[in-house]
Amino acid sequence: MTKLLSINNLRKIYHTHDTEIVAIDDVSFSISKGEFISIVGPSGCGKSTILSILSNLIPSSGGEISLKDSSLAYMLQEDCLLPFRTILDNCLIGLEVTGNLNKESKNYVINLLKTYGLGDFMYKYPNNLSGGMRQRCALIRTLATKPDILLLDEAMSALDYQSRLAISDDIYKIIKNEGKTVIMVTHDIAEAISMSDRIIVLTKRPSKVKKIYEVKFENKSTPINNRKAKEFSIYYDKIWRDLDVHI
Ligand code: ADP
Ligand code: MG
Repeated sequence: MTKLLSINNLRKIYHTHDTEIVAIDDVSFSISKGEFISIVGPSGCGKSTILSILSNLIPSSGGEISLKDSSLAYMLQEDCLLPFRTILDNCLIGLEVTGNLNKESKNYVINLLKTYGLGDFMYKYPNNLSGGMRQRCALIRTLATKPDILLLDEAMSALDYQSRLAISDDIYKIIKNEGKTVIMVTHDIAEAISMSDRIIVLTKRPSKVKKIYEVKFENKSTPINNRKAKEFSIYYDKIWRDLDVHI
């Protein structure tokens, strides 16, 4: 399979006025086209930092990143929809700021909105949408610039448990349908197992890669159904132990 992205010996040190924080000690992994990988690890271990470095928001302190002719787009936990813009106009922001808004790109977004159940809401405002619809809208806004790789940072964690399950299914179907490659950061082990092809487990800060799991189900299905698979709890127990959560 074509490797889209490789990260080797990534390191990040944050310098504050009086101290240094080694957030990432040594992290390496790669991702192939069409793959869905999750990065799980304890809170504060540097998951968001990895995505921020990948999307060039902050510099690394060492290591190499090789990105083969691929573009990235970042989807955050908060949907960040602007209340004074219509759903369509919210989804067009990325195209506007990159100077890529034209008839064709606009039609592409309109089609995405129609395909994924937001056609009737295009000219409405975000406050008319449920939490799940807002999240779907945020995903379409992320897809608008046709990125090869999507970076999802705890994208579902602001929602309640029931909605989260439904939205994971929803988002997963859209991503697969559109043939996207995904790196998802989450602290939710179940979410990672139910959605991913591979899971990278990080240690606590300063983080290193502790384990990498290939997630294999005899009958791989949608995230909600994968949660009922017999292999699910085996992965869950292993990763739970890796994270070594002390209460
Ligand atoms: P995670 O997403 O896994 O919860 P983060 O990547 O947000 O973790 O943060 C990793 C560590 O780096 C944390 O200990 C955090 O306090 C620290 N950190 C994050 N951003 C900064 C910053 N801008 N300046 C200093 N320390 C930071
Ligand atoms: Mg984070």
